[in-house]
Amino acid sequence: MTRSPNAPRPLAAGNWKMNGLFPAGAEVESLVGRVKTDTPACDILICPPATLIRPFAGAWGQRGIAFGGQDCHFAEKGAHTGDISAEMIKDAGGDYVIVGHSERRTFYGEGDEMVSHKAAAAHRAGIIAIVCVGETLEERDAGKAIDIVSQQVDFSLPTLSTGANTVVAYEPVWAIGTGRTPSNEDIATMHAAIRSRLTARFGAGEGGQFRILYGGSVKPANAKEILGLPDVDGALVGGASLLARDFDAILDAYRG
Ligand code: PEP
Repeated sequence: MTRSPNAPRPLAAGNWKMNGLFPAGAEVESLVGRVKTDTPACDILICPPATLIRPFAGAWGQRGIAFGGQDCHFAEKGAHTGDISAEMIKDAGGDYVIVGHSERRTFYGEGDEMVSHKAAAAHRAGIIAIVCVGETLEERDAGKAIDIVSQQVDFSLPTLSTGANTVVAYEPVWAIGTGRTPSNEDIATMHAAIRSRLTARFGAGEGGQFRILYGGSVKPANAKEILGLPDVDGALVGGASLLARDFDAILDAYRG
C-alpha cells in the first residue's frame, strides 16, 4: 500500500462485541505468534468484552497488540449499575475505547451529545477514543449520507479532540455484519468528507492527523482494496476479528 510520509500510522482494530470467554485468549495467542515475525506497518488493537481486557492485556499487552473497551460511561465513577468508566478500562490495561458504535446508538438510544461525553471521558482517562459514525440505508438512499455523517463528526467529537487522542471510524450501519460494503468510490468520497470536516474544525495540520477507519464487513477478500483507498487509515473489524487466521489475513493488506 502506498501512503504519504505524513499519514498517521494505520490502525487495524478488532471489535469482538459480546463474543468470547476466557479460552478465546487462544486466538490472541495465535495472532501474537503470527505477527511477531513482522514489523507490522500498522497498530493492532483488539477490543474484547470488558471481562477479558485485564487478562489479555496482562498476557499479551507488551507483545505488539493493544487492547481496549467497546463502550464506557461518561462519568469516572458512581451509581451507574452495570456500567464501566474509561478509567476502569485504562486500569485494566486498555489503551482505547470504542464509543458511539451503531449498536449502542440503535439499541441504547445514544446520540451525538452522549457520544461526545464518552469520548471526553476517554480523553480524561488518558486513553484513545474511537468515535463511530455512519448512516443508515434509508439515509443513504435518500441521498443524505454525507450530511448525516458530517453532522455526527461535528457533534460526536469533543472540543479537545486531537489526532493523537481520537480516531474516527466510518461504519455505514447497513454494512455492519451484513456482508455488504459500499463501493470503493463511496468509501473514498465519505472519508474525504470526514477529513474535510476534521480539517475545517481542528485545522489543516491537526485534522490531517486523525486516523479515519472504515468498518463494515471488512474481510480478507476485500481488505486490500478498501485499505488502499485515500484517507482510509485502517479498519474496524467485527466478525472477521474473532479468528486469528482471518484477522491476520486482513493485516496482510499492510504488509506490502
Ligand atoms: C463492527 O461491528 O464494528 C463491524 C464492522 O462489524 P463487521 O465487521 O462484522 O461488519
